[in-house]
Amino acid sequence: MRTLADLNAREKRVLVRVDYNVPLKDGRVADATRIRASLPTLERLLGEDAALVLMSHLGRPKGVDPAFSLAPVAEALAELLGREVRFVPSLPSSEETAEAVRAARPGDVLLLENVRFEPGEKKNDPELARAYARLGEAFVLDAFGSAHREHASVVGVARELPSYAGLLMEKEVKALGRLLHHPAYPYWVVLGGAKVSDKIGVIESLLPKVDGMAIGGAMAFTFIKAAGGEVGASLVEGDKLELALRLMDRARELDKPLLLPSDVVAAREIREDAETRVVPADAVPEGWMGLDIGPRTREAFASALAGACTVFWNGPMGVFETPPFDAGTLTVAEAIAALDAYTVVGGGDSVAAVNRLGYADRFSHVSTGGGASLEFLERGTLPGIEVLGGLSPEEVAP
Ligand code: ADP
Ligand code: MG
Repeated sequence: MRTLADLNAREKRVLVRVDYNVPLKDGRVADATRIRASLPTLERLLGEDAALVLMSHLGRPKGVDPAFSLAPVAEALAELLGREVRFVPSLPSSEETAEAVRAARPGDVLLLENVRFEPGEKKNDPELARAYARLGEAFVLDAFGSAHREHASVVGVARELPSYAGLLMEKEVKALGRLLHHPAYPYWVVLGGAKVSDKIGVIESLLPKVDGMAIGGAMAFTFIKAAGGEVGASLVEGDKLELALRLMDRARELDKPLLLPSDVVAAREIREDAETRVVPADAVPEGWMGLDIGPRTREAFASALAGACTVFWNGPMGVFETPPFDAGTLTVAEAIAALDAYTVVGGGDSVAAVNRLGYADRFSHVSTGGGASLEFLERGTLPGIEVLGGLSPEEVAP
């Protein structure tokens, strides 16, 4: 993969695809984690007196929609970077934007408007990719969180310009690559969250490499139901029961423990003051939903993890947004953070849980990419990595 080490950016206009898909609240950036994660690349390029043209998507707008403007991001970025950031409100492919970019001088930072305002962005329209390419002399892909997308601002434009991975991209690929190519053993994976279907690929790809997997969150109920348990009104993917059985068979064949909850905290509604009961995970009463792993499961998961040298965690153990159903997620986060191990957390909601606890520093790596991190662990590469030259055998070797 070509990196910034291969780019002489001196006084060049560099187009940088960043991931500024940040949460907004009342027209302001509510969590600047992703903006902060882009600073090393920006500072490095500014240190070479490049002019920076930044582009990103934000949310899922249907056409041009001011609610999804990147204008608030320009303000937050200017503050974090300690420099002026010029926001360019016209469509990224427009002549106005091209003009604004031509006026940029070394050391200038421009942020373009949301690339998803462009109808051709998600279709990877080659015309649009060429319009983007006219905005820079080199292209840097630093949007790890979007590197699994074959979109015009990710892979299309990279084919049109000399293109390089930014420092965040490089760091993510190294950190996640270690989970695939040279993990220290014992190696455990903890999965949770809403859907099995999001995580099948990762289960299949990591199962042969790990010592075991612990599965909580709503996705556990698809397994429990497939095995014949009564899950009450818990969230189940009815069309994934056979798949769950197949994954459990596969784990047995490989002789890898696939730990499921033995008890869960159940309620009839998702509310802070809902009446709760701890019940066996395979005997949730009718009308009740399992909303968190129970105390015995928390202990079982924590003791499975004790002594692990590598842990990958994706997906909360329960509805952590609504206490008291956050307790299982907190216990697991604490158990992983306390390990003397290589620990990685990925996934929007699990990372939010780790940040809320203030535990980010206690993990070896907190991935900025949810879907991208899962897809990378599943396939060992991503479209955004391939377009930068792909990974050489040395890059994936111990
Ligand atoms: P991540 O973003 O970390 O990959 P997911 O998006 O897969 O995680 O899942 C997160 C969501 O799963 C959260 O909104 C959480 O409330 C929900 N969830 C977890 N456990 C349960 C459960 N037992 N019942 C219903 N929803 C759950
Ligand atoms: Mg999520």
